[in-house]
Amino acid sequence: MADRDGVIWLDGEMVPWRDAKVHVLTHTLHYGLGVFEGVRAYETANGPAIFRLEEHTARLLNSAKILGMKIPYDAETINAACLAAVKENKLESAYLRPMAFYGSEGMGLRADNLQVHLMVAAWTWGAYLGGDYAKGIRIRTSSFTRHHVNSAMCRAKANGHYFNSMLALSEALRDGYDEALLLDVDGYVAEGSGENIFYVQDGALYTPDLRSALDGITRKTIMQFCDDLGIEVFEKRVTRDDLYIADEVFFTGTAAEVTPIGEIDGRAIGDGMRGPVTEVLQSLYFRTVKGQEDKYAHWLAAV
Ligand code: PMP
Repeated sequence: MADRDGVIWLDGEMVPWRDAKVHVLTHTLHYGLGVFEGVRAYETANGPAIFRLEEHTARLLNSAKILGMKIPYDAETINAACLAAVKENKLESAYLRPMAFYGSEGMGLRADNLQVHLMVAAWTWGAYLGGDYAKGIRIRTSSFTRHHVNSAMCRAKANGHYFNSMLALSEALRDGYDEALLLDVDGYVAEGSGENIFYVQDGALYTPDLRSALDGITRKTIMQFCDDLGIEVFEKRVTRDDLYIADEVFFTGTAAEVTPIGEIDGRAIGDGMRGPVTEVLQSLYFRTVKGQEDKYAHWLAAV
């Protein structure tokens, strides 16, 4: 990733990609307290556009607020940095990574005396989970538990939260699955390592509440679609066996988009392929992000 052409927005300036470096004593590298976002830009008929940029920037600022980190840039500046990162790298579509992190002024755990840096990188990144949008992926319930709300606050998209995701994902991959399903401390379904989860039962959608899951922007998008399409959505405590006997199950996420799940813990979901409700929502999602749905055009920020 480090050795490539292009530029990265770092603390207000565009820096050549290979020169966008930090010191080994960077505080966030040691203790994991930082916040980040994963954002996508899609090719539309009017050129590249970033999907739900304002919501991503708002979540980044809220993540920082939750962790008590003071990002020295406002939403307008961060939005402009994201648009510039796509534009200046001449990307037609992109994955964007804004991240705020502490500097290397000190090594103790106190962070009030440290500088907060902000970076935004953008590069081309295709499908995250396989890329066959019709076939369901295979997942397993993780032996690792998702964060407890009072030890790691789940509303924050914080760097350190992700080692739990990585443990779960690497276990799933090692066992031959595509992704992990994490349960909360009480044994209820929380989310994937980097995705929210929905299931379909008798035409209605169900999804875990946000006690131990990230407040996903794709999740919100799907819920808005359902509202507009007259599909009922319920947030509830979801159990493993709710999923085992569901008609359809799918993941949502900026990187994962809308990914059908065909098998959980060795049990087939439907016939293992994308179900009809998932197909409607997935295709509406792809039309929306590509600017083909006028109704949702306000979610796209032209580059
Ligand atoms: N949960 C986790 C743990 C994630 O990392 C992500 C990806 N940001 C999501 C859910 C989905 O969130 P979003 O739809 O905002 O990308």
